[in-house]
Amino acid sequence: MDYYSSQITKLIEELSKLPGVGAKSAQRLAFHIINMPKEQVEELAGAMTGAKNNVRYCKECFTLTDQELCPICSSDRRNHKTIMVVENTRDLAAYEKTGKYEGVYHVLHGAISPMLGIGPGDIKLKELMQRLQSEVEEVIIATNSSLEGETTAMYISKLIKPTGIKVTRIASGVPVGGDLEYIDEVTLLRALEGRTEL
Ligand code: ZN
Repeated sequence: MDYYSSQITKLIEELSKLPGVGAKSAQRLAFHIINMPKEQVEELAGAMTGAKNNVRYCKECFTLTDQELCPICSSDRRNHKTIMVVENTRDLAAYEKTGKYEGVYHVLHGAISPMLGIGPGDIKLKELMQRLQSEVEEVIIATNSSLEGETTAMYISKLIKPTGIKVTRIASGVPVGGDLEYIDEVTLLRALEGRTEL
């Protein structure tokens, strides 16, 4: 039996598809939304469609942005000769929060995982190699310390070595299997400062 109007049921259903939102939270959110002033609901809905419609990949580093070039790639205060390779935009954000990294990034959008059938061609690796045609002094590999992250790091370093560009890996000390975005800034900085050449 449908306790609520079908509109509310639909809203609850859609909300419960979001990660981390169970049936109970979806219900709570749905009623919260219905009780919100109309303008605020419109603002929320607009922000969602606006983000979806306007966000794209930076043509240089492949992070999510609403410009052709993200603010980091277009900044002349950043060191464009140092590229930090991360798995996703959330990892980039984690390093940006430390405020201490002055180089630029390259977002792979994933990691190599033979188990899941994700190969080198499925992440933004070709694009990274293309960037190395310009003047680059160091590539810092900051993929996660999970099996996939380590496999990816190894693969990238083998690929870059012949070019003569310095390749470094952030220090472990980052908990194994730990997602970079959940690690505190001090640990991230320590991992960055303690990076070793591969
Ligand atoms: Zn960029």
